[in-house]
Amino acid sequence: MRKQIVAGNWKMNNDLSQTESLIEALKAKEKTSNAEVMVAPTFTNLYQANQALKESNIEVIAQNMHFAENGAYTGEISASMLKSIGVETVILGHSERRAYFNETDEQLAKKVDAALANNMRVIFCFGEELADRKSGNHEAVVESQIKNALFHLKAEAFKNVVLAYEPVWAIGTGETASPEQAQDMHAFIRKTLADTYGNEVADEVTILYGGSVKPNNAQEIFSKADVDGGLIGGASLNADDFFAIVNAI
Ligand code: 13P
Repeated sequence: MRKQIVAGNWKMNNDLSQTESLIEALKAKEKTSNAEVMVAPTFTNLYQANQALKESNIEVIAQNMHFAENGAYTGEISASMLKSIGVETVILGHSERRAYFNETDEQLAKKVDAALANNMRVIFCFGEELADRKSGNHEAVVESQIKNALFHLKAEAFKNVVLAYEPVWAIGTGETASPEQAQDMHAFIRKTLADTYGNEVADEVTILYGGSVKPNNAQEIFSKADVDGGLIGGASLNADDFFAIVNAI
């Protein structure tokens, strides 16, 4: 049985006191699903968030990291720095990183390697833009994003890789992929994995959907066979909404 995960990507939201309030609200919620639950605060709040959630069943994860171990990379954070404060999982390749900070497949491959070399788990994000979907190129785009950043890995590395399909046109727009569009893409992703790594590996990889997942649409999206949970942006900033989504699995 594949792991199901619901992760909240808080993006560049919440100062320290807002982070503490949201965490208190999350701690008061009851999880009735089997999903693993994660939240990704900003770097400045990671340590406090991790301390505050230590005894809970919510994992604190990072939104990004650099590929180098250390050195002259002003403003950057390494995998070992994250590990040193107890952070074990990192989101890599988010479309906002690709679009606004010019992250390339090549850099992402190095980030993936650095995270895995530090025994971290990676949530690897990818997804097509609206123009790709309209021109029917969405599968080709997704295939190249995955292959370029991940297909140098050995099969066993996929134990520590979670995939997150986030169509760019559905992020923060209120427009979701339909449950069928999500399922079709997730099945395509799993087949792409199977073609190179075999069914055994492909069947074990958790594939999340992200893009305007809300309490009122989560259940239908999560009901699809190849959708193993979600990466939640806006709705993860509200404890009621986030747990409604967690419990929709
Ligand atoms: P929204 O849920 O706000 O559309 O954001 C999705 C996302 O980018 C999660 O990483």
